[in-house]
Amino acid sequence: MALVQRSPKQFDVCIIGSGAGGGMAAKILTEGGLNTVLLEAGPDLNPEKDFKMLMWPYELPHRGAGVGGKATENWGEFLAPNGAWSIEGEPYTSAPGSNFQWFRSRIIGGRTNHWGRIALRFAPIDFKSNTRDGLGDDWPITYDDLAPYYDKVESYIGVFGTKENVPSAPDGVFLPPPTPRCTELMVKKACDNLNITCIPSRLAILTRALNGRLPCHYCGQCGRGCTTASNFSSSQVFLPPAMQTGKLTLITGAMAREILIDKDGKATGVSYIDKAARSEKRVEARVIVVAASACESSRLLLNSKSTMYPNGLANSSGTVGKHLMDSVGSSGYGYIPQLEKTPPHNHDGVGGMHMYMPWWKFDRKNDFPRGYHIEFGGGRGMPGIGMFGDLNDEEEGYGLPLKQRARKAYGCHIGFAGRGEMISNPGSYCEIDPGVVDQWGIPVLRFHFKWSDYELLQAKDMQETFRSIVESMGGKYKTRTSTHGDYPFGIQPGGRIIHEVGTARMGADPRTSVLNGFCQSHDVKNLFVTDGAPFVTSPDKNPTLTIMALSWRASEYILDEARKGNL
Ligand SMILES: Cc1cc2nc3c(=O)[nH]c(=O)nc-3n(C[C@H](O)[C@H](O)[C@H](O)COP(=O)(O)OP(=O)(O)OC[C@H]3O[C@@H](n4cnc5c(N)ncnc54)[C@H](O)[C@@H]3O)c2cc1C
Ligand code: SF4
Repeated sequence: MALVQRSPKQFDVCIIGSGAGGGMAAKILTEGGLNTVLLEAGPDLNPEKDFKMLMWPYELPHRGAGVGGKATENWGEFLAPNGAWSIEGEPYTSAPGSNFQWFRSRIIGGRTNHWGRIALRFAPIDFKSNTRDGLGDDWPITYDDLAPYYDKVESYIGVFGTKENVPSAPDGVFLPPPTPRCTELMVKKACDNLNITCIPSRLAILTRALNGRLPCHYCGQCGRGCTTASNFSSSQVFLPPAMQTGKLTLITGAMAREILIDKDGKATGVSYIDKAARSEKRVEARVIVVAASACESSRLLLNSKSTMYPNGLANSSGTVGKHLMDSVGSSGYGYIPQLEKTPPHNHDGVGGMHMYMPWWKFDRKNDFPRGYHIEFGGGRGMPGIGMFGDLNDEEEGYGLPLKQRARKAYGCHIGFAGRGEMISNPGSYCEIDPGVVDQWGIPVLRFHFKWSDYELLQAKDMQETFRSIVESMGGKYKTRTSTHGDYPFGIQPGGRIIHEVGTARMGADPRTSVLNGFCQSHDVKNLFVTDGAPFVTSPDKNPTLTIMALSWRASEYILDEARKGNL
């Protein structure tokens, strides 16, 4: 019996990973007529069974906090399944002095089952920021190259928002936004006083029916997954139409291990572990699209070593794994006594904020390069685990007085989270750890990560801004951050914001980049990477809308090149 089982046929395309980048590619390539096989490391998903959208906290033991509160680390047991900071049998390591944190999902749709649905376009300047301030590098493409694909993605998946003409936050094709909540209007009033722009947010959630999907019914639980598919996930929005073409072969439980090449250095297929059978299998395809998430894709390229590519596949530049970036994140919250007196009323809405602050100081000289936006939330949502954690620190006692205090404080906190641009630096990268393998014997990643003063100064500015908003509302800012130590000004560890990008970046020069502007490898023409790895910069905007726009554009390019016989 053969030790390695080969697929009986050659596919046109093999896609690795079914998240934002892979799901997008699967839809476009199959609708374009290409016979596609999709390898996904996780299992299939049944939203009706697997999503806990309409469950009450008391329906789960420990109200979803898990034994010993352990599940709170991953936002509780209500979160959509199979996403976690650590996965049993699949470790990663951080080099001494680094503490990188990596949230991975192993399920059809990847992290698009879990994400916050914040869907922001990059601005024209984000593609050419080096030209403006000399830091980092410019992208080989412009906003105008990507704008038609932003239009297509937004029109297809559904993103709400409003036209605002803010230069740092371009408008898109929007569904109407939900009405702001009372707390959000109070924050906006404070922002108006402080000249901080505060506008309706932009989230991939339907406020109108679209393509057979129902509009949101405002249960406010998007992170649990939506059984009516009213928010976007690749599993519910990209993969069903791809399956309907009859051109998609989906193989779940398939952990890609290595991309295979022929004697001319062209990619010929993928070797993967069939997790159920614990055996190695192979699929053959004319084109390989890697979309396993930025760092996982780089891991796969680095592990695909051969005599022809001793440093890993598509890595003649030596930059695979380099230029690792996350978003700068710092958070804080305040107590707003005025809210104690608001009559109880319904704060329901989408599972996320209805308003946010785009970067408003783009036209000034700041203490740091680039900028950040602010996400915020508060009010009387459904009581959840940990909601009175801070009260524990402040109040002693039990019984009626404690309950009265909790009732009074309920809904009076407003939290703020800054999301800012990190500038790529040589101390932040991932590589193969020479001493550690996962349960399948595949070498794992080792992370190196450093923040520079650029990011620390941004976090400082975030803290000052949060305080000024809370104080302008007559509230008390409660967050204390140190000015020294590992995480000054409350800056989060690298990776914690879950926006890791840049580890196989695109560029015009093959000596300093891995991919061209169509996400195509400079070295291996039939190899593409369509997740966050191609990013050249990591602007303040959350990355996923841009991942999808880049993937749609790359997929149309693949269809074109395939028609011309170039692949
Ligand atoms: C809680 C949370 C909130 C977030 N909020 C936002 C937000 O509001 N806005 C935003 O823009 N982004 C947000 N993000 C980030 C967003 O989820 C990611 O940017 C996006 O999902 C990345 O898409 P991807 O296709 O690169 O990877 P993923 O969505 O992670 O998908 C990768 C897929 O590849 C599979 N895979 C991995 N390795 C292999 C392998 N070797 N072989 C086969 N399959 C493999 C995985 O199982 C997974 O299904 C959030 C993420 C989380 C977890
Ligand atoms: S808030 Fe809306 S989109 Fe989110 S889970 Fe509930 S119904 Fe679905």
